[in-house]
Amino acid sequence: MPACLFCEILTGTIPALRIAEDAEAMAFMDINPAVPGHALVIPRDHSVDALAAPPAALAACMVLAGRVGRAAELVLGATGVTFLSCARPDGGQTVFHLHVHVLPRQPADGLSFPWLHKPGDPAVIETIAGSLRSALY
Ligand code: 5GP
Ligand code: ZN
Repeated sequence: MPACLFCEILTGTIPALRIAEDAEAMAFMDINPAVPGHALVIPRDHSVDALAAPPAALAACMVLAGRVGRAAELVLGATGVTFLSCARPDGGQTVFHLHVHVLPRQPADGLSFPWLHKPGDPAVIETIAGSLRSALY
């Protein structure tokens, strides 16, 4: 099987700013944040997308995504959260390991779909990751 970017993040072969984990899923910061606090939640067991994943993996991702979203409300003052999972190229998917985007929202934040992947400032992403970690419960 060809190497999977998110499986390599899970094993630590590729570094990522992890913010939360449990037995089934892991959350980390997106390197191209569409909005401040943009995080990704992935299942530990590889599934290509939400169309192919077993129900337990989908449930685990949404449970962890909800925790990250609540942390974003607390520490980033998000007034809403968009949870998004793209499936297949025509669905907007570019990384083929199931993931849920957690997009903390603010009024008139200008986010539109699809957004352009633009690298964020690593120092800013790291600071936000620390805040989210501190607020996860
Ligand atoms: P998709 O386009 O499949 O819905 O989402 C893939 C996401 O993975 C994108 O938001 C993209 O910025 C993010 N991404 C791509 N490569 C990396 C990486 O090496 N590290 C991290 N943390 N995120 C990545
Ligand atoms: Zn994978």
